[in-house]
Amino acid sequence: MMLKPMYDVIVIGSGPGGLAAAIEAKKTGAEDVLIIERDKELGGILLQCIHNGFGVEIFKEDYTGPTYAQRFVSDVHELGVEMLLDAMVLDVTPTRHIYAISQWSGFAELDARAIVLSMGARERTRAQIRLRGTRPAGVYTAGTAQRFTNVEGFLPGKRFVILGSGDIGMIMARRLTFEGAKVERVLEIMPFLTGLTRNYVQCLLDFDIPLQLQHTVNRIMGNSRVEAVEAVQVDEKWQPIAGTEEIIPCDTLLLSVGLIPENELSKKAGVVLDPVTGGPFVDEGMQTNVPGIFAAGNVVHIYDLVDWVTEAGQVAGRAAAKYAIAQRASVARHVQMQAGENVRYVVPHRLDKESLTEEDQKLQMRVIRPIEGNVWVQVMDGDEMVARKGQRYARPGEMVEIKIPQKAYDAVLKAQTLTVNVVPR
Ligand SMILES: Cc1cc2nc3c(=O)[nH]c(=O)nc-3n(C[C@H](O)[C@H](O)[C@H](O)COP(=O)(O)OP(=O)(O)OC[C@H]3O[C@@H](n4cnc5c(N)ncnc54)[C@H](O)[C@@H]3O)c2cc1C
Repeated sequence: MMLKPMYDVIVIGSGPGGLAAAIEAKKTGAEDVLIIERDKELGGILLQCIHNGFGVEIFKEDYTGPTYAQRFVSDVHELGVEMLLDAMVLDVTPTRHIYAISQWSGFAELDARAIVLSMGARERTRAQIRLRGTRPAGVYTAGTAQRFTNVEGFLPGKRFVILGSGDIGMIMARRLTFEGAKVERVLEIMPFLTGLTRNYVQCLLDFDIPLQLQHTVNRIMGNSRVEAVEAVQVDEKWQPIAGTEEIIPCDTLLLSVGLIPENELSKKAGVVLDPVTGGPFVDEGMQTNVPGIFAAGNVVHIYDLVDWVTEAGQVAGRAAAKYAIAQRASVARHVQMQAGENVRYVVPHRLDKESLTEEDQKLQMRVIRPIEGNVWVQVMDGDEMVARKGQRYARPGEMVEIKIPQKAYDAVLKAQTLTVNVVPR
């Protein structure tokens, strides 16, 4: 695939937020829209969510995650959205310059008139909740176990304890039970459920999986593999209550203890984050504090329904396209002046096609090195000469001038960039 140096809209991440943003950007009139996705397929986390419950709000249908994703993937193909898969965005600058790497294109540098950040969220790990005990194999985040089980076809254990009553953990409790594993218990440090009641009923109650509120894992036990966890009741300050410890034998501990919006790239781009949500401050079009950089989905705040992520992506995509179209119009109105051969700079830096004066347009510049002999000062549109003047020498200490005559304005009006050279005659 041939990448273009400049896109109207580049979307980073192809979960429900990114897919919706790309589709809506294209429908709003953005010409070149590119999705960059580090996975080999479009769809984001939806691809590993093989249970139902997706699309009830938007489509009034009860889809699985991959089916829901496919509705948008089909639109992406039909609309001609470009995609760079198996590719990782490494850096984004405040001027919307993107550095990415992929097996197919190698190292790539791209520019966008607008960017939509939709990198999703990552799961909290054992280190982030400071779980004590040994460090054996068999401790996974619930999302990792979900990917192993649903995508890789690999059951990560036989006897599970799940820490955290978030939706991913509860959904995995049911999924692992379907696969013949035993889920001993779900422990929740808070005095209330942290996921949806719907998931508590359908995933725990229906399968007789006990939930213990105000309980946590005090320590992990086992050497090479998890052998048990020590559960404990906690007080209102989350402190273990002595005497309530209980050893639960198991070979795997799953952590479902929250998601963190994935904003490392956003920070590099100068995007300011809300300390409460962990995501960017955004306006009603999902634009961040950096002009032309938009955000949608879990990168902004953690959603409970994927349908709402899609809606946020649509808002961001529409606003990003409008921003890009306005940028394009303003660039088309201007001719950029470019310092060419032996020229250090040219002033003015650009010409406004709508307000070119009645007089000839004067350009001033300085040369890089002296030429002690006749020179041409040339204004070029690619290979086409727009204006030229001869002079007897050119020296860095002496400003060089040329006028673009009014009779050359037709050439100026159709140019995007004019290059000025000072070369031997
Ligand atoms: C592990 C996990 C499991 C979940 N399971 C469920 C569930 O079972 N049911 C449910 O309703 N909801 C679930 N959710 C929540 C739901 O998936 C989200 O609400 C929704 O997918 C968020 O969409 P998104 O577009 O914001 O992000 P995601 O779907 O996470 O998509 C983000 C995409 O960005 C890509 N990306 C990130 N960084 C880069 C980069 N630097 N370069 C290129 N690409 C990048 C990622 O590869 C990913 O494809 C789960 C979330 C997680 C994290």
